[in-house]
Amino acid sequence: MNIVAKCPKCDAGLPVNAADPQAVIKCGRCGTDLRLDVSDEVRRDSSVDRCPVCSGKDFYIRKDFNPQVGLTVVIIGALISAIFYWFGQDLIAYSILAAAVLIDLVVYGRLKDLTVCYRCHTEFRGNYKRTAAAFDLHTADVLEQEYERKIGRR
Ligand SMILES: [Zn+2]
Ligand SMILES: [Zn+2]
Repeated sequence: MNIVAKCPKCDAGLPVNAADPQAVIKCGRCGTDLRLDVSDEVRRDSSVDRCPVCSGKDFYIRKDFNPQVGLTVVIIGALISAIFYWFGQDLIAYSILAAAVLIDLVVYGRLKDLTVCYRCHTEFRGNYKRTAAAFDLHTADVLEQEYERKIGRR
């Protein structure tokens, strides 16, 4: 499993190899020491049961989607279709635009899920069982505030 631990001070993403974790990592941006407590489940890539950064047990699942890639496909599609439109080939123009949107949807559907910690936003990627539910705004509000009070950001 790959973990991207989020620094509680500056939100920098710090990659961690869960199979061979260090007990303490230093944030490359602000120099804060981050204590990691990696559970056996996480170490073995079998499930995400406890967050190594904040010890929270609440996670949500989201698609591992890079919005920039999706946008690029649509923009390129729009540019090509604009050329055809210019030459009066409306039908081809619309088909290309539709195809670009379709490619986006297909790519989105094939993306793997990634697990995110509600409290500190640490991310988990691997072959483990997905047990978390989809993102819930209310849960996020409650847990983020609790965490920020705990680490003294509020
Ligand atoms: Zn930091
Ligand atoms: Zn966490």
